[in-house]
Amino acid sequence: MFRITEIKRDIVIANRILAHEGVADAFGHVSARNPGKPEQYFISRSRSPSLVTAADIMEFHLTGDSISKDDRKPYAERHIHGAIYEARPDVHAVIHNHAHEILPFTVTKTPLRPLVHTTGVIGGHVPVWDIADRFGDTSLLVTDMDQARDMAKALGDARVVLMRGHGCTVTGASVREVTLAAVYTHVNAKLQLQAMPLGNVTYLSPGEIEKTPEALIGPLAMERAWDYYAARAGADQL
Ligand SMILES: [Zn+2]
Repeated sequence: MFRITEIKRDIVIANRILAHEGVADAFGHVSARNPGKPEQYFISRSRSPSLVTAADIMEFHLTGDSISKDDRKPYAERHIHGAIYEARPDVHAVIHNHAHEILPFTVTKTPLRPLVHTTGVIGGHVPVWDIADRFGDTSLLVTDMDQARDMAKALGDARVVLMRGHGCTVTGASVREVTLAAVYTHVNAKLQLQAMPLGNVTYLSPGEIEKTPEALIGPLAMERAWDYYAARAGADQL
């Protein structure tokens, strides 16, 4: 029971961190798989990340059907989360966001590639999913399980999937891990946009991509980074 309370608290803090770091604006969401019931996940009701509290957290089946018996309005794009939990047993937390600096990499052939030691966590291959390939003209939002499963297929075993003209979805083994991965996916996009106009960019090598994540999401580093970002967001006392 304590573990669930802890996970819900981390979801609230993650929302505040994403809002404070400019990863999420009015939109964007964070979920966590229920450790006791892996076919279910926790996510806030439809609310902006900077406002989410523990009382807003709802629980859903992977299909997106609500378990919480009330009439709170869920996120229309919650299916993104369930489809990834279905496809990836190793994933226990998911973040979806529309950070502006990510978007250029969703609409061009320039891949998002890690270029500094803190961003190796995004992985060597960041696939781009285009909803139009299978679903034609849509609002670009993921509003049902069919679309979400197609996106999860494009994610494959990667850490991050970019969504054409829309945003990105980031995966992790815990809420803390996925939050840091989402923050540094955003950092990498900003740095790559700054570096590319200056000339040929030296990206991390495959070996460096393997060795660098420990310095961000290894147990010691992760605790330090989480405390730092939580305090910066004013969420450390929640
Ligand atoms: Zn979205």
